[in-house]
Amino acid sequence: MPVKGVRFCGARCRTKGGAPCVNPAMKNGRCRMHGGALCKKETHGRATLRAIAERKRERGFLKEMEALQRQIKEAQREKSKQETA
Ligand SMILES: [Zn+2]
Repeated sequence: MPVKGVRFCGARCRTKGGAPCVNPAMKNGRCRMHGGALCKKETHGRATLRAIAERKRERGFLKEMEALQRQIKEAQREKSKQETA
């Protein structure tokens, strides 16, 4: 039901013969059903943006450390090879 001053979603319905959706729009211009995953909102626990960013950074750090470890092992192998030769 149209209300003045409220924008509507307007997404084309697939079941009602292509009629535009009349749900009131959110900030992104689409309703809660057609809004997609654009609204990254802060939730809690593992899903907070901060937690996600932190995990990402930690993964990068871990990868770096592993690469460094490989390099050290490689260098040690070279060294022991030189010593035995
Ligand atoms: Zn909609």
